Amino acid sequence: MCSENHVWERRWHPLLLQWVVYASHRQKRPWNGQKAETLENVAPTYDPCCNLCPGNTRISKIKTPNYSGVYVFDNDHPGLSLNAPTKLEKPHGIYANQPAVGIARVLCYSDQHNTTLTELEPTAFENVVAAWQSQTSALSTIPQVSNVSIFENKGKICGVSNEHPHGQIFGTDFTYTSIEHHLDAAENFNKTHGKVLFQEIINSEQLDGRRIICENEGAISFIPYFARYAFEVYISPKKNYPRIDLMPDSEVSQFTEILRQTLIKLDNLWHMSFPYLMKLHQAPVDNGDYRNFHFHIQIYPPLRTPNLQKHLGAIEIGGQNFHADTSPEQSARVLNETNNTHYKVSLSN
Ligand SMILES: [Zn+2]
Repeated sequence: MCSENHVWERRWHPLLLQWVVYASHRQKRPWNGQKAETLENVAPTYDPCCNLCPGNTRISKIKTPNYSGVYVFDNDHPGLSLNAPTKLEKPHGIYANQPAVGIARVLCYSDQHNTTLTELEPTAFENVVAAWQSQTSALSTIPQVSNVSIFENKGKICGVSNEHPHGQIFGTDFTYTSIEHHLDAAENFNKTHGKVLFQEIINSEQLDGRRIICENEGAISFIPYFARYAFEVYISPKKNYPRIDLMPDSEVSQFTEILRQTLIKLDNLWHMSFPYLMKLHQAPVDNGDYRNFHFHIQIYPPLRTPNLQKHLGAIEIGGQNFHADTSPEQSARVLNETNNTHYKVSLSN
């Protein structure tokens, strides 16, 4: 069943090859236009205690240089390293292990302690996307790295320990499972239909139209038909490129504009710095044939309303299928109708 107001059905997630269960009539108190209770970011532009502010000495005793704009450095306390232990204890029985080889970097979006990615000026925003491209290319030349993962956990609710706006970059010698699923699904889809899976997802979204947030000639953002979170958004170039560093400049600027517009709309939704988990989905960097893989960004915001968080239940963690009490069509309509100018700019004018 899918009416204007409610969705009560299972929908197939074509990238993860699993069902998502919708019962949007169960959300007893639908969002009714309220704004967040804590409105303003009162953080200063520079915090003398912040590890990531220019000129400060980090916990590791390494000094953060007096940078301006984007700043990328190797994480002082990495979970993955080219120096990770290689002599491992052999596990018993059927178990298997490998060294935690890789590279972990931090990418500060700007020298301003209180300016999120969303709030950056367009040129500064473009510089971040350019850094995503150059880091992907640079890490792809390291022999131990076969995959580059770029992501951000934004907001205290997402477990961020340092509020200086930053993302992270992992170069790994293994492929994350969501990318593996996408690769397998895209390969099988191409064998069966002779088409690129994600292109058909975009086509399907355009045919329906209700879940599109914004688009221009080269890029599109939408809440997918099979979204698991209330405001889960995909941002994608319309043409097919396996990685962000393989996009031509003209399309990068169109893609960047759609990403920026989408993030601003998320902030404007409840007049708050919108918390989210964001991940760039790109193909491995090991010179394989990934022509069926379509680069895009996925954003998973944990909030359903300004004060209500989505918690994963036992059936979701244990069963590995999501249950959603929201409707992608309703969420997309609300987000689509929000302003394109950031609310802080609107308030200051
Ligand atoms: Zn800072």
